[in-house]
Amino acid sequence: MPVAPAATRTKKPEAASVSRGDALAARLARIGLHDAFDCVLHLPLRYEDETRVVSLADARDGDTVQIEAVVRDHAIQYRPRRQLVVQVDDAGARDPRDAGLTLRFLHFYGSQVRHFSPGTLLRIRGELRGGGFGSVFGREMIHPHYGVIERDTPLPDRLTPVYPSGVGLGQAALRRAIGKALQSVTLDETVPEPWLRRHRLPPIDEAIRLIHNPPPDVSQEALTSRSHPAWQRIKFDELLAQQLSLAKAHARRRLRTAPPLPGGGVLVDRFVRQLPFALTRAQQRVSAEIADDLARPHPMQRLLQGDVGSGKTVVAAIAALQAIDAGYQAVLMAPTEILAEQHFRKLAEWIEALDVPVAWLTGSLRKKQKASARDAIEAGDARRALGTHALLPEGVHFARLGLAIIDEQHRFGVGQRLALRFKARAGVAADREPHQLMMSATPIPRTLAMTYFADLEVSTIDQQPPGRRPIVTKLIEATRRDDVIERVRHALAEGRQVYWVCPLVEDADRDEPEPPRSPAKRRASVSSSEKLQLQNAIDTRDALAVALPGTRIGLVHGRLSGADKADVMRAFDRREIGLLVATTVIEVGVDVPNASLMVIEHAERFGLAQLHQLRGRVGRGPADSACILLFQPPLSPTAKQRLRTMRETQDGFAIARKDLELRGPGEFLGHRQSGEALLRFADLQSDQALVDAARETAVAMSRDDPASVDRHLQRWLRGGDELLKA
Ligand code: ADP
Ligand code: MG
Repeated sequence: MPVAPAATRTKKPEAASVSRGDALAARLARIGLHDAFDCVLHLPLRYEDETRVVSLADARDGDTVQIEAVVRDHAIQYRPRRQLVVQVDDAGARDPRDAGLTLRFLHFYGSQVRHFSPGTLLRIRGELRGGGFGSVFGREMIHPHYGVIERDTPLPDRLTPVYPSGVGLGQAALRRAIGKALQSVTLDETVPEPWLRRHRLPPIDEAIRLIHNPPPDVSQEALTSRSHPAWQRIKFDELLAQQLSLAKAHARRRLRTAPPLPGGGVLVDRFVRQLPFALTRAQQRVSAEIADDLARPHPMQRLLQGDVGSGKTVVAAIAALQAIDAGYQAVLMAPTEILAEQHFRKLAEWIEALDVPVAWLTGSLRKKQKASARDAIEAGDARRALGTHALLPEGVHFARLGLAIIDEQHRFGVGQRLALRFKARAGVAADREPHQLMMSATPIPRTLAMTYFADLEVSTIDQQPPGRRPIVTKLIEATRRDDVIERVRHALAEGRQVYWVCPLVEDADRDEPEPPRSPAKRRASVSSSEKLQLQNAIDTRDALAVALPGTRIGLVHGRLSGADKADVMRAFDRREIGLLVATTVIEVGVDVPNASLMVIEHAERFGLAQLHQLRGRVGRGPADSACILLFQPPLSPTAKQRLRTMRETQDGFAIARKDLELRGPGEFLGHRQSGEALLRFADLQSDQALVDAARETAVAMSRDDPASVDRHLQRWLRGGDELLKA
């Protein structure tokens, strides 16, 4: 959720009060500080203790210390390189022999020299070094911070905060802007006193001010590790806002109505009986959970998570048939056309056997086909239609939509999920909306699911269908590419099929690229590198064609039209193509059981979740499967850990936990997933006790003090609350 405090009372309401001129305002805005309250919540990373001055004689080499000293002399030297060298004497020295210190500035302005006329008193802070580099005078500091002072210039009585800063935005400017903001803002208390006492938390206003300007006797360690009660309070408030909005969303959902879709219909029964396999216990359990929800008159919002290959599609089909049994429509949405088409084929095969017409709607259909699919959905057979489409098509109105299923939901943005809900709502009677089932192969640890997916129930398939063979994963250096090609030749000769994955040809806005880069950089590099990456895929195809003469090689990448992509995939599925060179467009959901070998080039560039998804394309048939991760040294420490994790485990949940550990929740969920919305202060893993405290308080506050609930949410959510309904 977007977490930034809202004004409860500002003395100077206009945001401009924090800025000195537009240039400063723009620089502040670039790091997300748009108004006084943003500034107030821009909290220090650490502190510098400038409240004390020491004597040089008492300081050891290597210490960072603050001293006061008088300039003796200065000179610009040219050897070994141009530098400003200032000789000073410790003003507090008892013995003049201990007093001398050299300051060296390798970068300096001409105007700076005037600070160093002999006799000037300076307050200097820096790291003390034993003299070296020809400094026969002994100790020195390189590039110390300094200020010209008077005899009576007072020392600060607070620790000096060091803030996360930005381009062209130094600490001094930040401190001034934040100091001003603190003066212009008062944070009214939003949490009832008894709860603060119960959890031993200080008032919010006091907590914020202490964090910005702590007195010197506060433990810096407690502040920087964020364990100090003032920090606990900030984190508590943030978590409380989440919990309150959860409770609100839940209550709101109870007020909305959905068509009850009772289970026990004939289609579900016939479908399950005609399946070529028995449902796993896990599939039965989650199906029962879903069936239960669907029968209720309130919209279900359930996340079905299960590892790659755990069999979510069948569960989705059963849910869809429950809707159809009850006389409603169901729609299944997939994020890519490849996946949409594949679902369509599978479902058509399963469901048309039951005489249920299935409509297929996607961007790549010809106009006429599209129109007829749309007509089927909007009118006649619509009662029993099941549409599958890649994107939210404009202008489709469902006659009687009972259930919307969203596959690989993490690939859709929060905004898109919302749009779907509103669109879907228009399709049922005005006051009703359809049930929603979201599916994801990236298991989301429970605490994250609870906090980020607001009001989402979670069902988990924790078991693979029987007969799955383990996939052998090998890490191989890029220099041994020829050996790998030999393996490919061997697999092809045995009549098996092979994927060869090249790194990232991407749509600009996905979450995965590693290492994390700033959004601006990412945009720039994607547009310029996309061509390069595509070229890379083409080159790879050509090189493999030379190395493996006589092999039918296909190429699929993000620049192909939906129809062309589908053509290639169909040919692969029919075994007309033996070797498929692909970019990550095949990451999601593709199911070709005869493919048993996957080679991933530059595996070190992929995220863990992505590698796991990719690898899940093999190991689907009876043959022994292998995944070869080709890597290019040197590897970064996290890349090393990612690859090692891939080699060691095939368990999607273990991989997700590792991924979360390596990337933290922000990167793990990505922007599209969380709607920009991450916890800024609290950490769900280390602050579990506060999560519990916040939950308990949220329940009581919702019950006893709705006015405080509103004020608290107003402050922390700032109108971002709509996202929580997704
Ligand atoms: P995912 O959860 O990754 O979407 P799928 O639904 O695509 O997985 O299922 C993967 C494969 O497993 C499909 O070929 C599907 O038909 C098969 N499958 C699903 N459930 C079972 C089961 N209970 N027993 C055997 N095979 C199953
Ligand atoms: Mg799937």
